[in-house]
Amino acid sequence: MFLGHFGAGFAGKKFSKSASLGTYFMAAQWIDLVWPILILLGIERVEIQPSASAVTPLNFSYYPFTHSLIGVLVWGILFGLVYYFIKKNLKVSIILGLLVISHWFLDLIVHIPDLPIFPGEGIKVGLGLWNNFMGTVILEILIFGIGAYLYLSATKSKNKIGTYSFIGLVVFLILIYVVNLLGPPPDSIEAIGIVGNAQWLIVFWGYWIDKNREAND
Ligand SMILES: [Zn+2]
Repeated sequence: MFLGHFGAGFAGKKFSKSASLGTYFMAAQWIDLVWPILILLGIERVEIQPSASAVTPLNFSYYPFTHSLIGVLVWGILFGLVYYFIKKNLKVSIILGLLVISHWFLDLIVHIPDLPIFPGEGIKVGLGLWNNFMGTVILEILIFGIGAYLYLSATKSKNKIGTYSFIGLVVFLILIYVVNLLGPPPDSIEAIGIVGNAQWLIVFWGYWIDKNREAND
């Protein structure tokens, strides 16, 4: 899942205006921000396999630290704790922790059974919507659209940048998604890791948008 995680991040703002959109994006996409680092380090593994499913050409063969249920619960608690120690805002800390954990449950809907429950070998789960191309696209667009709408209803632009940076990001994310869906599989595992790390730009974009918008009440 790609767009759906950013939809969840957008929605975070509806629950509390205290944190920036960038922070909500970081939480919702946290385990996919750590994953490319572990891929490049060779700690987790992925294989390019065009037949893996109708949507993704990747076989996520080993990613227990980022994508096991227990791993995600630990990341969620850690993320919330770190935020709490820095900002002392319990409500936002809980929202952020839940956003980190939401990633696994959104992935669960689309992934073919490759998501471990526990780190290490054992049962792997996934409801497999990735076997249905249109179903996946509709779900991603739906979650993304609802999230973006909630963010828009929770905030208003302070200036023109507040409007256009938001529109720009929405268009950019949809473009990346379409290119990912229709483009050729990645050239190499290194390319996957590098592109994955580039997602930090989207987090920074979230901070930029949020700086130019304010709470709507
Ligand atoms: Zn993921």
